[in-house]
Amino acid sequence: MTCPPSKKIISGSRNKREIHRAGWIVMDSFNTIQNGYLETEDGIIKGVYTGTPKEACIDHGPGVLMPPLVNAHLHLELSALKNRLPFDKGFQFWIKSLLEQRHTLGEEVLIREAKEAISDLLASGTLYVGEISTLGITKLLIERSGLGGIFFQEFLGSVIEKGFTRKNDILSFSLAGHAPHTSSPDLLRALKNQSRSEGLPFSIHVAESKEESEFIFNKKGTWADFLTLRGIEYETWDIGSKTPVAYLNDIGLLEPLTLAVHLLDITKEDIDILARSQVKVCVCPRSNQNLHDRLPDIERMIKNGIRPALGTDSLASCDSLDIFDEMAFVANHYSGLDPRTVFSMATLNGANALGLGHLTGTLSKGKRADFIYLPLDANNENQLFERIITNA
Ligand SMILES: [Zn+2]
Repeated sequence: MTCPPSKKIISGSRNKREIHRAGWIVMDSFNTIQNGYLETEDGIIKGVYTGTPKEACIDHGPGVLMPPLVNAHLHLELSALKNRLPFDKGFQFWIKSLLEQRHTLGEEVLIREAKEAISDLLASGTLYVGEISTLGITKLLIERSGLGGIFFQEFLGSVIEKGFTRKNDILSFSLAGHAPHTSSPDLLRALKNQSRSEGLPFSIHVAESKEESEFIFNKKGTWADFLTLRGIEYETWDIGSKTPVAYLNDIGLLEPLTLAVHLLDITKEDIDILARSQVKVCVCPRSNQNLHDRLPDIERMIKNGIRPALGTDSLASCDSLDIFDEMAFVANHYSGLDPRTVFSMATLNGANALGLGHLTGTLSKGKRADFIYLPLDANNENQLFERIITNA
């Protein structure tokens, strides 16, 4: 008896030439080859071709070779909180419980579970990440893991901080502001200026809840109470009479090297601002559904020229960090989205959101030779994309 074929994560050898063949090659959402092969050398794709190779090759089978997935927003350091926090008692109660549990579990457990989550990510084919870390405990783990992407050190409050930044080829180190309602405008500008001066992306959660919008508009509500409780002074913050998106735009944060995450509570005018500023966007629909019982308006974003990436947020608000699962959720909850669009969100849009579009996001000449083989069958291209995004 033979085992059924399974998903494979493949990396082209670093020091030799290889030919990888499969029934389908998905280069990107609009370029697929039925019966094709890839030539790789020193871990780089040298070419993608139609037909059967004339020389010895690694034949992966009748399924599909496709680019690796990108999780543009996650918090690996919260992995130990999986199934420990309630979703039905409101967002603030969830955050309060998160801070308590994170402290109670202790660093050793947080690190152990983050390590486990990284292994799962690599096995799923999610090979590039935008990791947000407030504690800094995942930095070393990611450096040693083989994951690519950006490690964002996150700050909040009113104290101006200077974090560690370094631009590398595959894994870079940059900065994140937590959110407009938890970080002073001066802190946000300082973090943004530091990352921009090195040509690195800057990340921030934006417009995740109605309470955030209320606080930015009038400095009142439950967030004002929460900041007071945590000893964060906000009276001097120059906010008010604006949406979170309009406010961040006014303080100069929205531009192509910023990654704005969530965008759940936004207006039509906000979408215009986002589109005009060319800010990168990442949505985390499963996390939004769990924490806020609401989904971002991805269809409207796309109609306005925004190209959202996909993220999962952490295991504290989502069942898995696997972007195949996020694609399947999007496919099930957004009937107006073309499967090719969903595929781009999980691959090329994610790569561009993290400034990695020259390295990955598509299977094309010059990009890194890492890819996924899925043992699925399809009669035509439309069926192929439907099956990939629903993991069928
Ligand atoms: Zn987040």
